[in-house]
Amino acid sequence: MKDDHCIFCRIANGEIPARTLYEDERFRVILDNGPATRGHALILPKEHYADIYALPDDLAADAMVLARKMAGRMHEKLHCDGFNIVQNNGTVAGQTVFHFHIHLIPRYKGDGQTIGWQPGSPSAEELDQTLQDILVE
Ligand code: 5GP
Ligand code: ZN
Repeated sequence: MKDDHCIFCRIANGEIPARTLYEDERFRVILDNGPATRGHALILPKEHYADIYALPDDLAADAMVLARKMAGRMHEKLHCDGFNIVQNNGTVAGQTVFHFHIHLIPRYKGDGQTIGWQPGSPSAEELDQTLQDILVE
């Protein structure tokens, strides 16, 4: 399944050149061209799935194993001090390309990036309600 209008389909399948760190039958890993830090890379499945909700389980599993392997390799080669693995779904969550991808972001002391959120302070009742909302069949 491939979408000719999708930039990541075209990159993942080799129609548009990209700086490729790794490739196999299911994935291509490329350097992000607007990197948060040195080495910021993207895991792209070769098949088109818009987001995590659309992803088949076996592809999700393989993607996470690949993320772990890439993080290990990049940590060893780049000598980064930490590592963020980020995956955005939906515009409100920061997704700009609607082809599932995983960000691999090496972190360095003093790199000046902030990847995070402001902690909230819900009441116990609110947390209980949230729990029920998620658990309900
Ligand atoms: P999102 O915001 O959807 O989670 O992430 C999209 C990422 O793709 C951004 O970090 C952006 O810099 C990167 N990106 C967008 N277009 C291209 C491209 O054509 N080539 C490469 N290498 N990266 C891209
Ligand atoms: Zn696509």
